[in-house]
Amino acid sequence: MLIYMAIKFCPKCGSIMKPYRNGNKVTWRCPKCGYVEDSSTTVPLVERTVIEHKPDEKPVVLTKANDNLPKVKVTCPRCGNNEAYFWIQQTRAADEPPTRFYRCTRCGYTWREYE
Ligand SMILES: [Zn+2]
Ligand SMILES: [Zn+2]
Repeated sequence: MLIYMAIKFCPKCGSIMKPYRNGNKVTWRCPKCGYVEDSSTTVPLVERTVIEHKPDEKPVVLTKANDNLPKVKVTCPRCGNNEAYFWIQQTRAADEPPTRFYRCTRCGYTWREYE
């Protein structure tokens, strides 16, 4: 399955358009009003990439036991403790850098750090 790294909004009705592959070209089609737009190459897709960062996004909760996670020296933004569990997780598209997660060994606060 082909994954496109872009979101394109319909200029007519504002709906999120869907990309269709047509040879080397990508055709965007609005599922709501039927508006069609061609992209000549895949380059404009990259330029139109929309990444939404939600500030209140909940960190991923792992079921994995804490003991299996490596610890690193990092300061907890909540309690000031200087040791936290550390892991890396691919939270977004596969060709984007993975996100680092930390969990404070003292208060359990979990936060993330983008590369
Ligand atoms: Zn539309
Ligand atoms: Zn803490």
